[in-house]
Amino acid sequence: MKFVYDFTEGNKDLKDLLGGKGANLAEMTNLGLPVPPGFTITTEACKVYLDSGDAPAALRDEVTAHLVALEEKMGKKLGQADDPLLVSVRSGAKFSMPGMMDTVLNIGLSDKSVQGLAKQAGDDRFAWDSYRRLIQMFGKTVLGVDGDLFEEALEAAKAAKKVVVDTELEAADLKKLVTKFKKIVKTEAGRDFPQDPREQMDLAIHAVFDSWNTDRAKLYRRQERIPGDLGTAVNVCSMVFGNLGPDSGTGVAFTRDPASGHQGVYGDYLQNAQGEDVVAGIRNTVPLAELESIDKKSYDQLMQIMETLENHYKDLCDIEFTIERGQLWMLQTRVGKRTAGAAFRIATQLVDQGLIDEAEALQRVTGAQLAQLMFPRFDDEAKVAQVGRGIAASPGAAVGKAVFDSYTAVKWSRSGEKVILVRRETNPDDLDGMIAAEGILTSRGGKTSHAAVVARGMGKTCVCGAEELEVDTKRRRMTVPGGHVVEEGDLISIDGSSGKVYLGEVPVVPSPVVEYFEGRMHAGAQDADELVEAVHRIMAFADRKRRLRVRANADNAEDALRARRFGAQGIGLCRTEHMFLGDRRELVERLILADTEAEREDSLKALLPLQKQDFVELFSAMDGLPVTVRLLDPPLHEFLPDITELSVRVALAESRQEPHENELRLLQAVHRLHEQNPMLGLRGVRLGLVIPGLFTMQVRAIAEAAAERKNAKGDPRAEIMIPLVGTVQELEIVREEADEVIAEVEAATGTSLKLSIGTMIELPRAALTAGQIAEAAEFFSFGTNDLTQTVWGFSRDDVEASFFTAYLEKGIFGVSPFETIDKDGVGSLVKLAAEAGRATRPDLKLGVCGEHGGDPESVHFFHEVGLDYVSCSPFRIPVARLEAGRAAS
Ligand code: PEP
Ligand code: MG
Repeated sequence: MKFVYDFTEGNKDLKDLLGGKGANLAEMTNLGLPVPPGFTITTEACKVYLDSGDAPAALRDEVTAHLVALEEKMGKKLGQADDPLLVSVRSGAKFSMPGMMDTVLNIGLSDKSVQGLAKQAGDDRFAWDSYRRLIQMFGKTVLGVDGDLFEEALEAAKAAKKVVVDTELEAADLKKLVTKFKKIVKTEAGRDFPQDPREQMDLAIHAVFDSWNTDRAKLYRRQERIPGDLGTAVNVCSMVFGNLGPDSGTGVAFTRDPASGHQGVYGDYLQNAQGEDVVAGIRNTVPLAELESIDKKSYDQLMQIMETLENHYKDLCDIEFTIERGQLWMLQTRVGKRTAGAAFRIATQLVDQGLIDEAEALQRVTGAQLAQLMFPRFDDEAKVAQVGRGIAASPGAAVGKAVFDSYTAVKWSRSGEKVILVRRETNPDDLDGMIAAEGILTSRGGKTSHAAVVARGMGKTCVCGAEELEVDTKRRRMTVPGGHVVEEGDLISIDGSSGKVYLGEVPVVPSPVVEYFEGRMHAGAQDADELVEAVHRIMAFADRKRRLRVRANADNAEDALRARRFGAQGIGLCRTEHMFLGDRRELVERLILADTEAEREDSLKALLPLQKQDFVELFSAMDGLPVTVRLLDPPLHEFLPDITELSVRVALAESRQEPHENELRLLQAVHRLHEQNPMLGLRGVRLGLVIPGLFTMQVRAIAEAAAERKNAKGDPRAEIMIPLVGTVQELEIVREEADEVIAEVEAATGTSLKLSIGTMIELPRAALTAGQIAEAAEFFSFGTNDLTQTVWGFSRDDVEASFFTAYLEKGIFGVSPFETIDKDGVGSLVKLAAEAGRATRPDLKLGVCGEHGGDPESVHFFHEVGLDYVSCSPFRIPVARLEAGRAAS
């Protein structure tokens, strides 16, 4: 295996091996741009070093060979006494990890060669300053000496001389400082600062390898989801100096504006300085445009190089350069980071310039960027006091009056007030309040808590698990750290993207992109903003490319209409349990408690017209598009009163000798239906099989609604979906009953309804027996929320608040499997079930309706395994469309 590549040997596609910096230095070298010569040690060498604790045996000889070649090219030897070749040793991983790993400059300087450098440069001060920088950097990063000791010595030198900035120290002062620095090294590291330049270089290379595994590098990687086993490459590059006088300098530049994408001259320049001076902010940089008047030749050359780079990379590049006595050198380039908005604009600009095609443009933007552009933002939060911080559960910015129960939320919002619903945690009873509120704040629970999941589904801002806040719902107030009490009606602001909670009102700016999707701002109209225009065009590219269809999870006409505006091609999941809350809850309660058939019939009869009306509205909102209605799913106890509260009521009535027959009956039922594990209990199809008439009532409502729409010349396309099926027998029973009801309705209304019946695949057994289940199902929709819960054995309502943080910290997973599909586990089951299902029934329609349906990475996976559609909450539809387009191009 080859461990070292000269800059002339690599290219930009070798980032895995040479790291981003090394690969791009090679690319620029081969483009004929002025790059100081050098070579790159591969990530493979680093991996061997990290695994075995030692560099690979062949590395030393390879480095020698490349160093000799470099010395020949430069006409001087590393550390040569009269005219030293100096090199930098820099880290450079595949993914940029800014400032996380080590770099050592000026390798090759020693007590002898510092004299040679001084003579060659004609500048004593420069040479001694370079030497003291080497000892300082080397001491700290290679020998592990506390960096403060050098800083303190430097400060002391300045104080002794009564000067403020480093540049005011003269050669003699710096020479003394070198002696002092060497002493620090000797005392702290127990060894002399190495005078042998090759030893300096080898030790620095090992130090860079080691820096891959520093705590801060590991932390950064976990946050950025960079795998921990990639290793870093090491770039050994001949030094050029920007601090050799006024005809030298250093700078950074972008080939176009990273905020707007506009072409022009963007960058900063600092005369007579080295890169680290710019970072340290010792002196102020000047706008790059001023370089034209300082050094016209270098400026013109730089402009030309930037054009070459843009045309070559076909993208915005950022660069670092140094001018050494009028000679321009390129030290780094890479495809530059940009804001989300600029990503969209730049992609379309590059298409217009003919540099990239539509498919490539789609690779230049991400769903995450689009999502970012869709949130309203806080404008000027600095003016308002932050009082807490929780988990950023559902992005956006919301301002309103604090209310502590759903009833007040609804009441106040009806009278035109904006409210934030503050709860310790939410439950299905809070749904009305959540809908009415601008945002939701809870002091308990994680990213998959009820509040978080529901809020994300609604596209509503939510901060959850803000534990420092003491929420007292009884007294309608919360206490923030420091003791301040927020009363009902006090204004608060929450930022669902950062998790921050503010006291008072922070101004909010709506997203122009959402205004556009909502049809309130038209791309192409006179006032269309460049951003909206770019988003509009990119979405069109994605829609042209994608194979996956995108549907919405929506339970009412309002959501359905919004979903349609956002580009939904149907509804993939209508959760009917949401239709049973509010006023209708009592009817459901009566149904559950019914002792006699007549009582049950009565409640079902009362529910039927209400359900039918729900579906009429939904089918008309989605006219012409498929609507998958899922029969009732949630754990039954959710429809019954709280057990403790009810027990208290019964006990009180008993002690007061008041009549309490109804309460008692209710309490007995609640006890009877109480389950230790409701998620694994009487839900889904089990409920349908246990409560006679429930599912058939729903099927009848769907069929009658479809018939009514048909007779009104509509085009309803209902699909009936049975949840939580584990075996084909369950499905067969429900199916048989459903088919009968549908036939009855068809006969009674004189219509042919063509209702298809399918199932959710959300239990491992369903996935494993999908071949059998497909015999009785016309479609599958993967319920990846429950499938993840049951495959991992993780309670979806509890884990994030309990041990997920520890799991994420330990790197067991980089992201919650409830957020991004676990390809190896849950994903394999999806793949297996899809294949088995299609083997039984080749035209089986396949979709997914778990939260993963709107997650970018998961959408790519569902594309790859050949699903027909993904279904997600209305707000995530544009992201899913975009990602489906990206996956297909
Ligand atoms: C699922 O389990 O993925 C699903 C969509 O159903 P629910 O979230 O309603 O359980
Ligand atoms: Mg489910």
